[in-house]
Amino acid sequence: TVNATLETTQLRQLDQQHHLHPFTDFRDYAANGGRIVSRAEHIYIYDSDGNKIQDAMSGLWCCSLGYSQDGIKKAVADQLMELPFYNNFFKCSNQPAVELATRLCEMTPANFNKVFFTNSGSEANDTQIKFVHRYYELLGKPSKRLIISRKNAYHGSTIAAASLGGMSAMHEQTQGLDYIRHIEQPYWYELGGDMSPDEFGLWAANELAKKIDELGEDNVAAFIAEPIQGAGGVIVPPDTYWPAVQKILDERDILFISDEVICGFGRTGNLFGFQTYDTKPDLITFAKAVTNGYMPLGGSLVSDKVADVLLGHGGEFAHGLTYSGHPASCAAGLATMDVLENTPILESSSNELAPYFSQALESLVDHPVVGQVRSKGLVAAVELVKDKGSRERLAPESAGAVYTRDRAIENGLMVRQTGDAMIMSPPFVTSTEEVDALLSKLTSALDKTAAFYNVK
Ligand code: PMP
Repeated sequence: TVNATLETTQLRQLDQQHHLHPFTDFRDYAANGGRIVSRAEHIYIYDSDGNKIQDAMSGLWCCSLGYSQDGIKKAVADQLMELPFYNNFFKCSNQPAVELATRLCEMTPANFNKVFFTNSGSEANDTQIKFVHRYYELLGKPSKRLIISRKNAYHGSTIAAASLGGMSAMHEQTQGLDYIRHIEQPYWYELGGDMSPDEFGLWAANELAKKIDELGEDNVAAFIAEPIQGAGGVIVPPDTYWPAVQKILDERDILFISDEVICGFGRTGNLFGFQTYDTKPDLITFAKAVTNGYMPLGGSLVSDKVADVLLGHGGEFAHGLTYSGHPASCAAGLATMDVLENTPILESSSNELAPYFSQALESLVDHPVVGQVRSKGLVAAVELVKDKGSRERLAPESAGAVYTRDRAIENGLMVRQTGDAMIMSPPFVTSTEEVDALLSKLTSALDKTAAFYNVK
């Protein structure tokens, strides 16, 4: 294999010459290159230079059960031997896809009984748009086309998903779809001003009501949101936010899409984020941890309310992907659900590990450069500031958080930076000793940051 035969320096050179990386400055990468990750075990990744790095991000929020789930690996290998591929077009199906669809419907509330499979979260959200539009077309309400999303949301990277998302840097490079509107996000630390978190949560929820009224309920098809914005910086909303949003949705005829790509499958302490916040989605987007990140898989779960209309009218749904319901991906999904449902991992991670982790991070609030710590279950952010009172940032363009992240990685801790926040979503199989190690590596990175920016 390439890994076995090519020296690291040569691999790096070829990577710089031929490989365009996602969300990367191409010119910078071609000049400076990156890290070749060669193997992973438990919660550690190993690079070709021999570094061992503790992964506090579960890969890209997906390897929630760590890297050593042999049952998932074996299920994929066995499936490849039995039926490596067949499509689900033209009245065909396969056993793993059928079983996973059934299993996901059993795991979700009773009103969810249908699944459409994709390869990714982005494609799943594209699919949701088509479902929502077809639903109202079939109901004879074609004017209901607008979809409301939130600033600083992340819903994926295809043109439709990037339009749904509220990332300004992505909008600058992608001409957004004209039927998507964005409202303010529930980011109290950044936007709350003099309001208490609870007051601000109500204010942010009311932005949805205001937007629906402004656009006209007859023109609005759906609201899409992550229970907790992940890539936007782990924005844990104030407690008042979701109940107020749900009330607004209850009073209006629009569909609610809960994007569970990060929050799904245990991340916030329950199987799904909408259960943590007690909301009632009509459509659920999933991906990532559904296969523990080992195989590409995403999808849309459709409630009876929507499915009854979609199935009730007949006519082909003109949408599908070659790999929709790929047997090996679905086999990975089934084996992942076996671990989540048939072992105590979810219970122990939410009852023991999550409180330990949040307490460990809370101890950082007195650190000179830490402005706020926020977490829910096993997803967290540590927001950095120069001045706690004024919330002034360490440096323009989040350079302070970039500095901290780089020091953390040097210390052997893989964390991510979004804006001025250090964000984390550790694997559920992390031990308390490993949380201690995470804290000490992160603290050392924060100490170096405080020294570098001369904050006392
Ligand atoms: N929705 C959310 C909430 C996400 O976090 C992501 C990915 N980070 C996506 C959608 C897109 O998923 P994918 O990268 O698999 O297309």
